[in-house]
Amino acid sequence: MNTPFWGPDFDSLASTDPEIADVVLGELDRLRGGIQLIASENLASPAVLAALGSTLSNKYAEGYPGRRYYGGCEQVDVAEEIAIARAKELFGAEHANVQPHSGASANLAAYAAFCAPGDVVLAMDLKQGGHLTHGSRVNFSGRWFSPVGYGVRQDTELIDYDRVRDLALEHRPRMIIAGATAYPRLIDFAAFRAIADEVGAILMVDAAHFIGLVAGRVIPSPVPFADIVTFTTHKVLRGPRGGMIVCRAEHAKAVDKAVFPFSQGGPLMHSVAAKAVALKEAATPEYRDYAAQVVANAAALAMGLAAEGMRVVSGGTDTHLALLDVRPLNVTGAEAEGRCDAVTITLNKNAIPFDPAPPAVASGIRIGTPSVTTQGMAEAEMAEVARLIGRAVREPDDAGEITASVRRLTAANPAYGRD
Ligand code: PLP
Repeated sequence: MNTPFWGPDFDSLASTDPEIADVVLGELDRLRGGIQLIASENLASPAVLAALGSTLSNKYAEGYPGRRYYGGCEQVDVAEEIAIARAKELFGAEHANVQPHSGASANLAAYAAFCAPGDVVLAMDLKQGGHLTHGSRVNFSGRWFSPVGYGVRQDTELIDYDRVRDLALEHRPRMIIAGATAYPRLIDFAAFRAIADEVGAILMVDAAHFIGLVAGRVIPSPVPFADIVTFTTHKVLRGPRGGMIVCRAEHAKAVDKAVFPFSQGGPLMHSVAAKAVALKEAATPEYRDYAAQVVANAAALAMGLAAEGMRVVSGGTDTHLALLDVRPLNVTGAEAEGRCDAVTITLNKNAIPFDPAPPAVASGIRIGTPSVTTQGMAEAEMAEVARLIGRAVREPDDAGEITASVRRLTAANPAYGRD
C-alpha cells in the first residue's frame, strides 16, 4: 500500500456536525454500557467499519465487475470480485451476488428472479416466526404475490413438515421459502427439498438469521439443498448492514438481473468491500470458535431463563436465539421488554407460537447471543445475565441495583473496548 488511509475522522465530524457526533458517541456509550440481546444484531469489527467509512462510498458502479455503466470502476471491481470469490468459497456456492442493500432487498430479488405477480408462495407464517417478506400483507410479498403460510406443531413447537407438504400439494406454490426470523431450532432442508421437488417448486432459503452459524460450520448448510439462499450480512455473520444471495449456477443470470437492474440501482461499494472483509473474518478458525460459543451461550442463557421461571419455546435452541414464554412470570412480552430496557438490557418482545396476545403486546421475548459473544462473554456470564433478566422482570423496583450489576458485567467484557 503506497497511500495512507484517508477515512473515518471523528474530529472532523465533531467540528462539522456536533449534533450527529453526539449521537455517534451516545450510541457507543449505549453499546458499552448495556447488554445487547437483540438476536439480529452484532458488533462489526474495526476492519469492517473502516471499509464502510471509506471513499468507496462515493463510487457509482451500476452493473457487475467488468460490465459497468460507469468508468473508474477498476478498484471497486476488485472489491466485488474478492467478495464474490469469498462468498462462493465460504458457502460452497456456484454463484454469489453481493449487491443486495439489505435482507429485504435480497428477498425482493429472489421473488423477482423466480415468480410472476400473483404466484403462490409457501412460507412460514409471520405469527409463527416468518419475516415480513414471507407474505405479510403490508409488504410487497403479500401485496403482489399469493402467500400461503405454514407453521409449527402446537405440541412440539417445531415446524410441521407434514402440514408443509399437505399445503404444497394443495396449493402448488411456485416457490417455497424455508427460514424465519424467530425460529430457534435447526431446519430440515432435505425435507423442504423433497417437498419442493414433489410439487416442482423453487426452494428459497432465507438464511438471514443463521448464515453466520453456517459460515462457522456449527449448523448444517442450506446451500446444497436450495435453488437460492438469501441472507443478511449483519447478524451472526458480523459484517456491515446488507444482504447477499448465493445460488445454483443455472439461476445466476436470473438472480443478477433481478438485483440489478430490476430492483436496485448502483451498489453500495463501501458496503460490498466491508462484506468482503467480513467474509474473510468468517473464514478463520477464530470465527468458528466464535460461532460455536454463540450457540453454547444461547443454550446457557435459555437454560438460565428457564431457571428464572420462563418457558423455553420448543424446549430449547440449536442456534443463536431462543424464544421464551414469559407468562409464567405474570407479565406480557411488552412488559418484560420494558423492564429489561429499564436496566439497560436490550431484547425484544416476540409473539410465541399460537400467541393469544396481539403482536404489540406478545407473550414472549426473543433473546440472541451474537453481540455478547463478540464481547467475550461465555456460559458463566450468560448465567449471570439470566439472573439479572429474571430479577429485572420480577422486581422492577430494583432497577437501580440491577443496572449497577449490568455495568460491572459490561466493564469486564466491554463492547469496542479501549485497548
Ligand atoms: N429475512 C429474515 C429472516 C430476517 O430476519 C430479516 C431481518 O431481520 C430480513 C429478512 C430482512 O433483513 P433487512 O432488515 O436487512 O432488510
